[in-house]
Order: sequence, then structure tokens, then C-alpha cells
Amino acid sequence: MTITEPPPRSGRDGQRAAGARERHLGAIFETVLTRGPLSRRDVARMTGLSPASVTKLVKPMIHHGYVTEQDPEAGVPGRPQIPLAINPDRHYAVGLKLMSSEIVGVVVDLQAQVQSSHRLKFEDRSLQGGLATIEKITGVLLGRCPVPSDRLLGIGIGLGGHVNGPAGVLHRSPFFSWRDAPLQKLVSERLNLPVVIENDVNTLAVAEQWFGAGSAFSSFLVVTVGTGIGCGLVLDGRLWHGVSGVAGEFGHMIVDPDGPACHCGKRGCLESVAGGEAIVRAMSGATGPRITKVSQVANLAHAGDPAARKAFTQAGVALGRAIATLLNLINPPLLILSGEGLAASDLFIDALREEVERSVFSTAARDCTLLVRPQPDEAWARGAAATMLRHGVLSSLRALTDEALM
Ligand SMILES: [Zn+2]
Repeated sequence: MTITEPPPRSGRDGQRAAGARERHLGAIFETVLTRGPLSRRDVARMTGLSPASVTKLVKPMIHHGYVTEQDPEAGVPGRPQIPLAINPDRHYAVGLKLMSSEIVGVVVDLQAQVQSSHRLKFEDRSLQGGLATIEKITGVLLGRCPVPSDRLLGIGIGLGGHVNGPAGVLHRSPFFSWRDAPLQKLVSERLNLPVVIENDVNTLAVAEQWFGAGSAFSSFLVVTVGTGIGCGLVLDGRLWHGVSGVAGEFGHMIVDPDGPACHCGKRGCLESVAGGEAIVRAMSGATGPRITKVSQVANLAHAGDPAARKAFTQAGVALGRAIATLLNLINPPLLILSGEGLAASDLFIDALREEVERSVFSTAARDCTLLVRPQPDEAWARGAAATMLRHGVLSSLRALTDEALM
């Protein structure tokens, strides 16, 4: 960590004006996408823009097919209002979730509705083997759902680990030996398509922001629980990456310095204390068939086994304490709990809630709605596709800013 003087501020008025138009176009698109169909008057009210600005900015969006006008609303006093809606057919994106042994992929339309899906196992887990599998699954997905090239925005890739999304670099992942790989550039050159890469928890946060429960909030958190434990932060409308993409590595908060070894090289990370491996490890002294999976522990717990029940309760307490720290730090109005670990949420959610309430400062727990959302693997791939949609659409809208001036 270095301490230094802040750099001088810079910026020109022209750039600032263009930046504002871009933001306003983005805000209108997001509002129609997440809350539409909406009249121009409602869009103006919700975005805080003037009705005249909305009318001017919506024009190029309609011209280029992002937004369509629906039939006028009947029975509304005054001039009939024409509802605006997103045209789901305007753009499509491929989303891939890279897991330890396979890739789950989807093709989605502009409303993130899944058009086709497929799973493919890695035959070779080297970087070159990974690129070949990405190419193969993309071919299968687009073969099943042919998309005209001018409508395909590109490929979104989500995977666990330290991913610097804005830089396009995968620094490290617990699943692969690839280190500091410029994955975005490598896939983009190989498939000749735009590509975005992102930490997989962040992709879920983007999907929630544009297409899910997060759409009604400018700030919220997504915490995923399973083999890994992660957090995606949306703060004031922005996915928060930090300076190098490490932001949200909640699972590697050290909660017990003398605790078990974590795959990151440290000891006692939250993930090593409350993740899937910890639940299995807690049963290592159990008699009977060898336990290697969380689902086996869950079955025992559901059958009333006290050691199995305790393993889940302990994980719930550790998670609850860590989530209380998150609530103290961010004070979000919404926390979405997701991930494969929630298949057994009934076994730890009460312990988690009680510990959050016991450990949190002041009203931070009362202020926050906790939403428990078990999701299939496909939801992660959809999240990766949503990340590409978001990036691609906002880039395309940027190209419309000049038109919006005319
Ligand atoms: Zn760790």
C-alpha cells in the first residue's frame, strides 16, 4: 500500500457534456428495460430528465430499433401516452460460465431471455484447451440459435477468481492454472467477436441489476454461497470492481487466522470456514460411508444427524457474522443470497439470520432486505450474457450520442 498526493483534476467541458448525454441515454434505456413499457412522461419522471430531453434522446433509440412504440394507452386523461418498450430482437449475446470441469453456455435476447443452452466438458484444461472448448460451445450455441451478425453483440464470459473485467485479464482462478491470461483478447481474436470477461459473481450482480430484483435499487449486494463464497457490489448504479477487480472477494476475508488452509494460500478465509469444503470436512470423523459431497451431508442433516446439522449451523453462523460486516460497511437496502449452496439453505439460513442480527451495528440489518435466491448453473451463464449485453448496448448507445444532438 502506498500513500501519495491525489493527482490534479482534469476534464474539458465538451467531454463532460458528451459524457452526460451518454449517461442520460444509458439511464433512459435502463429505465425502459427494467420498468417498461413506459410513456416518455414516466421515463422523464423516473430519470429526473426533462420531457423535452427524453423525447430528443429516445428518437435515435427508436430509429435504430432499440426501443419500439406500442399502441397508445386508452382511458388515460389528456393526450394519449405512447408506451415505450425494449425491442428484445434488436440484440443477442452469448454467455458462458466456466466451471472446474465444464462450460455452461446460453444465447439470450436483449431482455436476457434464454434462446438456447448447452453444456460441454473440458477435454484439456490448459489455456489452449480452454480456448478450444470456448470456441466449440459457442459454435454449438449459435448453430442452435442462428443470430444475424449485426445483432450479435458478442460473448460474455464469467468465472470464479481474480478477474480484472475492465482490463480483460484473468489473474487467477481456483479452477485453472491459467495465470495473468489476457483472456478477453485471446477469445476475441480466436472467434472474431467482441468479448467481455468478468468475475462470475459480478455477472450475477449485473443480471440482477438489469433483469432481476436489483433493478429497483441503485445499490445492492449479491452474495454467493457454495464451494466458493463471493460478493458482487452494485453501488450507486455501478458494478464496483475496485482498482484491479479484487473488489468483492468476501470469501477471502480472514475470519480465523488459525483456521484451515484456503486455496488462496492463506489460512482461515471465510470460504475455508463456511464453504462447501468446510461442511464436508466437519464430517471427516463420521462413521459410515466416506463423505465427499455437501449433498451427502445435507441428506444426513435432513435425516436428523446431529453432526451434519451442526456442520451447517456453524457455516451459517460464520456467514452471518461476515455478512454483518458487509452490512456495516455498505449499508445496502438489498442483499441477494445466491449460489449452489442455497440448495440446502433450510439447514443454515436461521443461524445466518440470527448471527447477522446479533453482530450488526445499529439498524443495518433492519435497513436491508435479505432475498434468498437459489439459481441453476444456467443463471450464471445468463449473467455472463447479461454482462455482454450491458457492455455492448452501452457502447452502441455511445455511438448514438452525436445523433441525439440533432
Ligand atoms: Zn482464501
